[in-house]
Amino acid sequence: MPQYDYDLITIGAGSGGVRASRLAGKYGAKVAVVESSRVGGTCVMRGCVPKKLLVYGAVFANHFNDALGFGWRIGEPMHDWGKLIAAKNKELDRLEGVYNRMLRDSGVTVVPGRGVLADPHTVEIGGKRITGDKILIATGGWPVTPDFPGKEHVISSNEALDLPERPERVVIIGGGYIAVEFAGIFNALGSEVTLVIRTGHLLRGFDQDVCATLGEELEKKGIIIRRDCTVRSVEKTGGVYSVVFDTGDEMIADCVLAATGRAPATSNLGLEQVGVKLNAKRAISVDGQNRTSVENIFAVGDVTDRINLTPVAINEGRMFAETFFNKRPMQMDYTNVASAVFSQPPVACVGLSEADARRNHRVRLFITRFRAMKHTLSGRDERTMMKLVVDKDTDKVLGCHMVGEDAPEIIQGFAVALKAGATKAQFDATVGIHPTAAEEFVTLRDPVPETDT
Ligand code: NDP
Repeated sequence: MPQYDYDLITIGAGSGGVRASRLAGKYGAKVAVVESSRVGGTCVMRGCVPKKLLVYGAVFANHFNDALGFGWRIGEPMHDWGKLIAAKNKELDRLEGVYNRMLRDSGVTVVPGRGVLADPHTVEIGGKRITGDKILIATGGWPVTPDFPGKEHVISSNEALDLPERPERVVIIGGGYIAVEFAGIFNALGSEVTLVIRTGHLLRGFDQDVCATLGEELEKKGIIIRRDCTVRSVEKTGGVYSVVFDTGDEMIADCVLAATGRAPATSNLGLEQVGVKLNAKRAISVDGQNRTSVENIFAVGDVTDRINLTPVAINEGRMFAETFFNKRPMQMDYTNVASAVFSQPPVACVGLSEADARRNHRVRLFITRFRAMKHTLSGRDERTMMKLVVDKDTDKVLGCHMVGEDAPEIIQGFAVALKAGATKAQFDATVGIHPTAAEEFVTLRDPVPETDT
């Protein structure tokens, strides 16, 4: 008679939880995954996937304009927001089915409901208790909204993905990933967008030239960026919102979206009661093998607040399952994790920003800014920026940054090069593919003189 009902109970069926559960199931473990919402989690249901579908929908607006320069004659394009949202929702339903099927095929039991730890081996779901040898917490994160009068009128990205109508005037608080992505979606579809950022620049943590270039490009598209500004209050009058800024002036909006970060979902899970330690940001503290302060309890993904990206959570989940259910100990390497922002134009990067590199290296910088070939005919006023940060002593490429069309697709390949420790000489020895934007990364010959330290 086994001591526990399951070998593994996972709380949270998002990217990390599903990958860990499926793999553990495949390796013969008896697994249950507890999920209070939809299987698929943030990425599939409320994040990456629906957002990217809306981005795909929005960028047609740019393509229609571009086409004119290539001889097309197009009538007035009309967009049906409701149709886009319905199509997106249909795809999410399909994906949820796929995820459920994959779990079932791996022998994993999906337990609907909210799981709370009753003791280190027991999870309670709506009064029902199940026990597990190992417990994996993969509950992800949740949007946080600043505290000001009227904050109840403000929506998060969760609701923005499901608005019944496209708002004509949108105020977006924040300048991070989610803010600039939604700014691009609404702007392309014809809304007036105001981004309210509390500092002078977007995308904190990204390379300075990326932040500056993106800011310029968003402004060229008509997005208003209110820098060094915060929202003091939001008041609802009739069907519209009056947004008052710290400067005292106000504006009317049809929708106010807060994209001001996400917090680890660690509340009311019974974590502290069973001895799981949280850090100052209330994220679960784990070691290199994803183990918490309680020997049989593990955690992966955004709930641990390491690098909050879906592919990172998936890899953490995979490594947890390989280590504990396949006797192949693995640890995640958090260096050179590439990331992308699906703004318009998009951003993608791998490795160190110039500022981060300068902390420990002498650097050479290579930067190019150009108008993509397509836009010589389309007339689109958009410039691409590409930048390499190179270690002056070892010649290793430390960082690769791009703002421009297809940046996420291009940087993925360069991430392999950085992971392999490529040098600038090896970049130079690589023959470019012509005519592309990507070839610029292997034809950058002259370092930026004034920063040649
Ligand atoms: P981010 O941390 O990226 O950005 C938060 C923004 O809100 C920053 O500009 C920040 O300003 C600002 N902010 C924070 N608190 C306040 C406040 N009290 N008042 C005013 N402004 C504030 O968070 P997001 O919500 O955009 O995204 C959450 C996470 O989701 C990201 O960190 C990322 O890990 C993930 N994500 C990834 C995507 C991708 O890979 N493409 C897409 C979307 C999300 P400041 O810079 O001054 O701190």
